[in-house]
Amino acid sequence: MPNQPTGDPKQHDVSTFTDSISGSCLCGSITVTLNEKGLFDKPRGHLCHCANCRKVAGSYVASNMLMDEDKVKIDDRDGTLKTYEDKHTLSGNPVYRSFCGVDGNPVQSKTALYPGKVVIKMGMFPRIPQPEAEGFGSHKHPWQGQHDGVPSYKIKWAGPEKELMSEGTL
Ligand SMILES: [Zn+2]
Repeated sequence: MPNQPTGDPKQHDVSTFTDSISGSCLCGSITVTLNEKGLFDKPRGHLCHCANCRKVAGSYVASNMLMDEDKVKIDDRDGTLKTYEDKHTLSGNPVYRSFCGVDGNPVQSKTALYPGKVVIKMGMFPRIPQPEAEGFGSHKHPWQGQHDGVPSYKIKWAGPEKELMSEGTL
């Protein structure tokens, strides 16, 4: 008998994620839990259109969330978590990209640019908050539209160098 589809985010009420949310990789070896209150109370996380994020995501955009490392719990049941040192970055700082070695599911990134933080790859979670912003908006494919309520920045989406491209107003 075929499996029933379980991937509809609307089946997962955000009220069940008041204190935390967990997600797992495709094979189920790696489970990531984000322990943050009110994750869905306001826009949170960002979309990134940089070439490196696109490759890792296998898609035209990556859904990322910058988290305090001590709020993230990774359970690596079968010891399948692997890390790739990505040296080809805009800042010159290597990005340590972790993924499941069995199914290739992206898990998180770490860089010296964000001490004490990790960038979580959100595709493994049952529900994703509305993003705060979109980075590398100037590198979007021409057929992509603008997400309502998500401001788009040319390259950086935070910090003094951020440069707004589009407000993304509703
Ligand atoms: Zn896996």
